[in-house]
Amino acid sequence: MAVSRADVKKSYRTQIVLLGPPGAGKGTQAKSLSEELELAHISTGDILRQAIRQNTDLGKEAKSFVESGALVPDSLVTRMVTRRLLADDVKNGFILDGFPRNVAQAGELDEFLGKEGRSDYSVIYLDTSEKIIVQRLGGRRICRNCQAVYHLTNRPPKKDMSCDNCQGQLYQRPDDKEDTIKNRLEVYGKETQPVEEYYSRNKRLFAVNADKDSGIVLGEMLDFLRQR
Ligand code: ADP
Ligand code: AMP
Repeated sequence: MAVSRADVKKSYRTQIVLLGPPGAGKGTQAKSLSEELELAHISTGDILRQAIRQNTDLGKEAKSFVESGALVPDSLVTRMVTRRLLADDVKNGFILDGFPRNVAQAGELDEFLGKEGRSDYSVIYLDTSEKIIVQRLGGRRICRNCQAVYHLTNRPPKKDMSCDNCQGQLYQRPDDKEDTIKNRLEVYGKETQPVEEYYSRNKRLFAVNADKDSGIVLGEMLDFLRQR
């Protein structure tokens, strides 16, 4: 009997946390997965950058942390994420990209989803070497208008520094400059690596070699989700 696309979708776990260092490809993979599986893509970095651009209260509070590569205080980020998780478009499921970033946030997420009766989620860890991370972050460019992610050599836009989707201008994130990259990798090692251990302990973690081509990484994630 033929298996319909809807059946395949039903067989996926639809709540996904994407973990990995800056530059591992979380945003890139989250976008593909969200299109493939019709899930909400929740990127805490994108939400914070938008708040900074719009100079909202959240943006004013978060600005100096984001610009220096430090973590924004847990209370602000957790409130922002739990609110977002209650929105209508998240009912079908979500992909969290950039959250949780420390063990306290992981605990908050578990508590929130537990209370909502939605505790079952998958954690995919994008395992990447430091050399690749530095190359990816250094060449990353973002569309000012729609936030699409490009890379100067790995995924260049078709036309000079303008977005293929909306012709918006591409820019380099200020925190992708060399000094801030170093700081962000230190913050990752200190704060976020323990989250990998947190999820390994409770056997949720599935690791993918994310040094590979993005199509291969996506295929491995879909195979894993299908088999769960
Ligand atoms: P993250 O969200 O984890 O910080 P991104 O998805 O923004 O990472 O990816 C970082 C950079 O690396 C981007 O410029 C993106 O185009 C590029 N990139 C992402 N995945 C791959 C891959 N598998 N191979 C090559 N380049 C990639
Ligand atoms: P990202 O786009 O995921 O690389 O995040 C960019 C920046 O936003 C980080 O360097 C932090 O300053 C901030 N940020 C994103 N997510 C979180 C989070 N879960 N907790 C604290 N700060 C965050």
